[in-house]
Amino acid sequence: MDDENTYLLISGIQHYVFCPRQWGLIHEENQWDENLLTAQGSLIHERAHNESLREHTHGKIIERSLRVHSETLKITGNTDVVEFRQVAEQTGNSTISLPGETGYWEVLPVEYKRGKSKTHDADRLQLCAQALCLEEMLCCSIEYGALYYNQTHSRELVSLDSALKERAITILEEMRRLLERKRVPKARARSVCKSCSLSGICLPSLDQRESASTYMQRRLKEIQ
Ligand code: SF4
Repeated sequence: MDDENTYLLISGIQHYVFCPRQWGLIHEENQWDENLLTAQGSLIHERAHNESLREHTHGKIIERSLRVHSETLKITGNTDVVEFRQVAEQTGNSTISLPGETGYWEVLPVEYKRGKSKTHDADRLQLCAQALCLEEMLCCSIEYGALYYNQTHSRELVSLDSALKERAITILEEMRRLLERKRVPKARARSVCKSCSLSGICLPSLDQRESASTYMQRRLKEIQ
């Protein structure tokens, strides 16, 4: 793999979709302020990342905490869980062979999340970026992934179609451009700021205030 320092962290895509400034503060300025929601998220991931838990039951292998990367997209990260499911026959390039195992296997990345299924696609896009890495590493096509939500104890099957994959790639390209320009996006106060772990650092309400130059221009106009 090329210089890993130039790689984007896959986990950043969910921050970027939630708020580009949050991503910039975490990934460009290394700010991190944990609130209750992020602490709960960490606990869920610790459980999923228990590397001693490799399960191999009939027809299914479960691998936890696999390191993945894409040299094409220059992204890297850890998966929570990857399930390999044995299927009866080879299906295009959606099945692979596994060393030491017989037969054909489908690949299903699974990401563990706090809360419940959301209307925005942040979780789906992060899962999709993991799948893009696995596709490149295993030379296969991955059509589905899954999100497990701790609040509802439910698993959502996510169709990793070409539209979602193209969107993930476009967002990753935007993130890379911002990173190369070393530019943290501006704050924009919105309803999501209430649940943002970085609101104390970001101070989005300050964004509502007039800048000094705008104030001077307005005052000049008023006295002319
Ligand atoms: S407080 Fe609001 S604007 Fe600031 S990083 Fe969080 S979500 Fe973004």
